[in-house]
Amino acid sequence: MYYNNDTIIYFNGQFVKAAEAKTDLYSQSLHYGYAVFEGIRSYPVNGGTKMFKGAEHYDRLRRSAQMMKMPFHYTTEQLVALTYEVLKRNQFTDAYIRPIVLCSPNMSLSKGKECFLAIETWEWTNGYMSNQMNIMTSSYRRPNADAFHVEAKVSGHYVNSILACQEAKDNGFDEALVLDCNGFVAESSGANIFYENEGILYTAPKGNILPGITRATVLELCEELNIPVEERFFKPEDMRGADAGFFCGTAAEVVALSSLDNVPFRKKWEDTFSYTIQQAYKNKVMEKPYLRLEEKVA
Ligand code: PMP
Repeated sequence: MYYNNDTIIYFNGQFVKAAEAKTDLYSQSLHYGYAVFEGIRSYPVNGGTKMFKGAEHYDRLRRSAQMMKMPFHYTTEQLVALTYEVLKRNQFTDAYIRPIVLCSPNMSLSKGKECFLAIETWEWTNGYMSNQMNIMTSSYRRPNADAFHVEAKVSGHYVNSILACQEAKDNGFDEALVLDCNGFVAESSGANIFYENEGILYTAPKGNILPGITRATVLELCEELNIPVEERFFKPEDMRGADAGFFCGTAAEVVALSSLDNVPFRKKWEDTFSYTIQQAYKNKVMEKPYLRLEEKVA
């Protein structure tokens, strides 16, 4: 359950009970998937709570709304402050935060006339993801970048994610590897992807993916830890049987892959650069020091 009778959300200018908030059945968001949203994590840091890259997420929310031509006028600073207030009112530290910008009733296919912001949150008790995932190449492709603004986080795009994720589950896998419209590896249903081979990490370039904030963090960590990384197009066959692979995203964090299309990744997870990245990410979000690779090797 995401909320109970006591849960407070921010909705359109007020802090209200989630159980009592109402939205409109005639909204463009419901009928056409015309809404933009974010997924943010907060972590217990120094006895309080801290959103990881909250400003970056809200900058992306504002960019997404702008690309969708929605009249959304909150500043990033306002959005960050409102979110901390929602966390405080719910007394959450370890939480997932889901802001969404909804549009007003309008059955026509014109841009949104009015927007409503909701900031929802629920406690995140999963801990850091430790399981490894078996994934399959999906028969669904990501939306064509000529058809959608794929770099925007738009509700309607996630119908594609539901199809791909459910197909994988129906076939006994944990997640889907989804290709772009040209047949190159793009991402999963809700995370970016990296694979590692012979000491180099690879990830899909921007253009046909949601360029994740976690992906950017992984690239920063590679730089800091001197781990070679290349952004380039690649096929599932380049990745199958490689040394290691992982998904990364705000909710997924850095999660190891054990196989792709039933072909296992070769190396023991703990012996890979990917593992080093996973550990560094875990410490970074909690604002703990993380080892430099040279220190680890020495
Ligand atoms: N790709 C997709 C399709 C996603 O839904 C997400 C999750 N927002 C990501 C990538 C990862 O993005 P982020 O690291 O910003 O959470």
